[in-house]
Amino acid sequence: MQAAMTTQTRVLPAAIARLNELAYNLWFSWNDDALQLFQQMDARQWEQTGHNPVRLLQELDDARLQELSADSGFLEAYQGVIARFDDYMQSGHTWFEQRFGSGTPVHIAYFSAEFGFHESLPIYSGGLGVLAGDHCKSASDLGLPFVGVGLLYKKGYFTQKIDASGGQHAEQLHYDFARLPIRPAQKDGNDLTVTIDMPGRTVTLKLWTVQVGRNPVILLDADIAANQPDDRELTGQLYGGNQDTRISQEIVLGIGGVKALRALGIYPNVYHINEGHAAFLALERLRELLGLGLPFHAAVETVRSATVFTTHTPVPAGHDAFPYGMVEHHLGPLLGQLSAHRQALLDLGRDEATGLFNMTHLALHTSGLRNGVSQLHGKVSRGMFRSFHGNVETREVPIGAITNGVHLDSWTAPEWKALLDRFLPGSWKDDQANPQVWQSVELIPDESIWSVHTKLKEKMIAAARRNLQEQRRRNGDSAERIEEVRGYLSPKALTIGFARRFATYKRANLIFSDLRRLRKLLDDPQRPVQFIFAGKAHPADHPGQELIREIHRISQLKEFAGKVVLLENYDIDLARYLVHGVDVWLNNPRRPLEASGTSGQKAAMNGVLNFSVLDGWWEEGYDGTNGWAIGSTEDADWAAQERENTESIYRLLEEEIIPLYYNQGELPHQWINRMKRSIRTLSPAYNTHRMVQDYTVQTYLPTADRATRFAMNGYETAIKVADYKKFIRDNWHQVAIVSVDDGTAASVTAAAAAAASSGTTSSEAPPQPALKRVTADIAFGPIWPPDTLVEIVHYEEHSGAWEQVIVPMQASGDLVDQLQTFTAELPAHLAHGAHFSVRVRPVSPDFAHSFELPLITTTLHKEL
Ligand SMILES: *Cc1c(COP(=O)(O)O)cnc(C)c1O
Repeated sequence: MQAAMTTQTRVLPAAIARLNELAYNLWFSWNDDALQLFQQMDARQWEQTGHNPVRLLQELDDARLQELSADSGFLEAYQGVIARFDDYMQSGHTWFEQRFGSGTPVHIAYFSAEFGFHESLPIYSGGLGVLAGDHCKSASDLGLPFVGVGLLYKKGYFTQKIDASGGQHAEQLHYDFARLPIRPAQKDGNDLTVTIDMPGRTVTLKLWTVQVGRNPVILLDADIAANQPDDRELTGQLYGGNQDTRISQEIVLGIGGVKALRALGIYPNVYHINEGHAAFLALERLRELLGLGLPFHAAVETVRSATVFTTHTPVPAGHDAFPYGMVEHHLGPLLGQLSAHRQALLDLGRDEATGLFNMTHLALHTSGLRNGVSQLHGKVSRGMFRSFHGNVETREVPIGAITNGVHLDSWTAPEWKALLDRFLPGSWKDDQANPQVWQSVELIPDESIWSVHTKLKEKMIAAARRNLQEQRRRNGDSAERIEEVRGYLSPKALTIGFARRFATYKRANLIFSDLRRLRKLLDDPQRPVQFIFAGKAHPADHPGQELIREIHRISQLKEFAGKVVLLENYDIDLARYLVHGVDVWLNNPRRPLEASGTSGQKAAMNGVLNFSVLDGWWEEGYDGTNGWAIGSTEDADWAAQERENTESIYRLLEEEIIPLYYNQGELPHQWINRMKRSIRTLSPAYNTHRMVQDYTVQTYLPTADRATRFAMNGYETAIKVADYKKFIRDNWHQVAIVSVDDGTAASVTAAAAAAASSGTTSSEAPPQPALKRVTADIAFGPIWPPDTLVEIVHYEEHSGAWEQVIVPMQASGDLVDQLQTFTAELPAHLAHGAHFSVRVRPVSPDFAHSFELPLITTTLHKEL
């Protein structure tokens, strides 16, 4: 049944009463027929409310509501949407249920500082938020038992206005929560609140729920009368204020968030920290467990067993870190309450290199499974956090990678979806992560592809012109200058889009490095090219705002008028127009600073061709046929990258992209082929269904399993693991590799001889290498040898890259005087020291990954 309505909810005519349910469930935001239904009610008001269905229903006049409730066409559409909605909400045939059964004891809580669901709920700033929003949508579609936790910002992020000289103005709006698609969380008819202790005072947080399909996302709001004026600002603005504001917000999110779940009676067994901002959730979990009397290290093991961490930033400076004095001040109440563990708690965030309390360190210390957001970013993160993990090699640092995606239903244009419905198997949306499903994209006639694309391009150009006219009107431009915009941007010209945050590493101005060369491209009357830019710079990012000014200045030059345009207030709504409607999506960050990037994924699904540096997701996505790669030599420094990327951009435009686009009789068939390749190869891989399925299989399920096991029988396993780790740590110095016997090269072993004569190898196959027996004597002190793994590590060259080969050694004979012999077979030419090393490391079936306890004794410290 429905939750009690707040007083703000409009009472609707009975025939259309359930529109309220639709308005309060963000399911509407990814279902085109639901969006259309709201738009149909009053197209002008739909625009005026910023596509906010709650406001629309509140503001429509009675006569119109009555009219609609008697309009048979509208009622039919309404009933269709409601039927689909009910079907969605009640379906027992989700991916999760079918694959794992409905009784699977998993409950995931996903914590994020921002969520970008839809333009009507402005609690996001950019990519991280949109990713979190898309994650929640797919979690619902796939049927995951899932709850999100975030903050409800009174002022959102900011609305961007660009003035006549290209200056960015960050405009603050105060949102009226009663008009957003959210509701107060209630229990027994009462609004729910929680309190958190801040230095010298208690702060009360009101809980709100935004329903995202089947699952709720809980939002915390400090702007209530019970709080002091300063505290009411705690959830004022996303990424606003100073470091004190930031740490306070993160305390509200992490500590308040766990308390909010408890107030709602929710006890998840998986806690997902989406970027370090949310890592304080671990401290609240520790407080709960220490309160139960668990020893400190057992409490940490318990928290770790249930926590997943995703890092998003390949630049050290991008990770939140606070001076210790600030941390001790703001966490004063918690540290006071847990005074016996004060130092240990503070050490969980210690970054030895900077002397700061680092939120990523806290997250790494308190999570079992961790990942970056593309394969390349995983690798960069392993390098960044190698020293954090003792002396393991970079490739063995326990940080994996799950590449980001985007929510297909939210980002693919309705026109494309209608076309795909006709050509793809009926189950294509449910099976979107299966590449097979996408094969029949090849069957779509070129005319249909081009007609959809052209239509979307025209819509995009109309939206861009509206945006520019609005800028000029507000900036007091002449009627003539406003009128002029009607002729800007030709639907016939090759159109290149560049829209993202104006952070300097994204190098929005790279294309302007050689204005003469660029002008030749834009001015070609036969083959014109045009550029559309959009993006916000953080209000404190002055170099970012300088970029906006520079691009604005260029767009005002006579020769570029109408061919280079800068749109204002890049948000989900504008992003949708752009990724649907341009021809090419340009992305030229400094490699490897783009952890993943997702806007290019949105573009790809809409047949917009990516033209990007091989960074983030594109390093994996590009296959030579589905877009273009902007080149530079591997490991070029920034200046060299700049030179080489610029040259590559111009050359590809001149020699490949422009000629291909304008190689058209009736239709640009070769271009359309690339569009098909883009849709067919990239859609199945870079959607959030694939991503959330990866999270589920690789992290959520194993985590839920461990968490449940660790907590059973009074946290028996957590206590055992904590004790085990302490024992191993205390005694590891006694582990020693006493001697290694290289073996004799001549002794070809029985195994090799058998393999050679088994008939599975043809006569042309290379001969089996001669093997030899290597032995090592290891001293263990008080440590039980089966609690360790003795391994040989060597490297083999595979197509130019050195790959690590690990050969486990077997115990032979008895443990004598805490000394045991181990043996293994190796190719005879490998010599100890020069070619291979022996190492010993602790293992346990209770570890989340191989290097959970990064203690390694080795005969070599060498990394290839
Ligand atoms: C998708 C999206 C982003 C992220 O784009 P990147 O390619 O990761 O820079 C940022 N802002 C908005 C509004 C988006 O929709």
